[in-house]
Formats: sequence, C-alpha cells, structure tokens
Amino acid sequence: MADDCIFCKIARGEIFCAELYNTDTVLAFLDIAPVHKGHALVLPKAHHETIFDIPPDLWRDIMTAQQIVGKAILQVTGAPGMNVMTNCYKVAGQLVPHAHWHLIPRHEGDGLELWPQGAYGDNEEMNRLAEAVRLAME
Ligand code: AMP
Ligand code: ZN
Repeated sequence: MADDCIFCKIARGEIFCAELYNTDTVLAFLDIAPVHKGHALVLPKAHHETIFDIPPDLWRDIMTAQQIVGKAILQVTGAPGMNVMTNCYKVAGQLVPHAHWHLIPRHEGDGLELWPQGAYGDNEEMNRLAEAVRLAME
C-alpha cells in the first residue's frame, strides 16, 4: 500500500467509492467521471504501478473480477458492448499510478472513437519489428 495513492486510500476504506465488488485481493467501483454511466474500475488492492508490475498469483482473481463485474454492468445498463482497457504510464493516459482496468459500457452510436490506426511501410518493416520484440522476450 502506498500512503499517498488515491486507490490505496479507497482500498483501505479511507475515501468514498461506489463499491461493486470486494474480495481480499481485488476491488471494483464506479469511476467518478464516467465515459458512460456504469463505467467501472477493477484493481488489485495491493499497490502496483501498472499491469506489468502485477505478480502472477493475482491474475486469476483480477480476471475473475473483470468477468463478474463486466457481465453485471452489461446486464444492468443494457449496453450491447464494453471496452475493457488499461492505461500504462502517463504518456498513455494513466492518471492514477495504481494498476487498474476500465470497464466502459458501449452503446450504438455513442460517438466514442478509439484507436485511430496507421500502417507499416511493408511486411519487411513489420517482420523486423516483430523479430525485435521476440528477441526482447528471451
Ligand atoms: P487512468 O487515467 O487510467 O489512470 O484512470 C484513472 C481513473 O480514475 C479516471 O477515469 C478517474 O475518473 C478515476 N478516478 C479518480 N479518482 C477517483 C475516485 N476517487 N473514485 C472513482 N474514480 C476515480
Ligand atoms: Zn495504490
């Protein structure tokens, strides 16, 4: 737990949240500034900066929470779709440096545009980049 982290404070019960799900390891609550109503956050109670820092023994609990909470939000909001996403580090839009996933219910024609997409020059460029990433995993 980090003293000055807002999500740690919520996990400790020191700050209000509209709680959705609470176990020994995982917490979910409504985002205070929703993209659409029902927008929720799922997070490990332990403080880890990004999802890359979360130890493997927490993954099952987190994914279970995402499934249970996500399905319930779809049911209650009547949304026909949902984006499940996480921001890693400031440049990617992470405002709170305590790993969390956004569950954002989506509606037909709701106007939210994600992922403007680009292109590679050719397959060779893609292959070079893929090889560099494969090497980095070794
Ligand atoms: P991110 O930009 O991925 O770090 O997302 C942080 C999210 O936390 C934002 O969507 C905020 O609206 C949300 N947030 C910040 N403070 C609170 C809070 N006290 N209760 C609920 N949601 C919060
Ligand atoms: Zn924290």
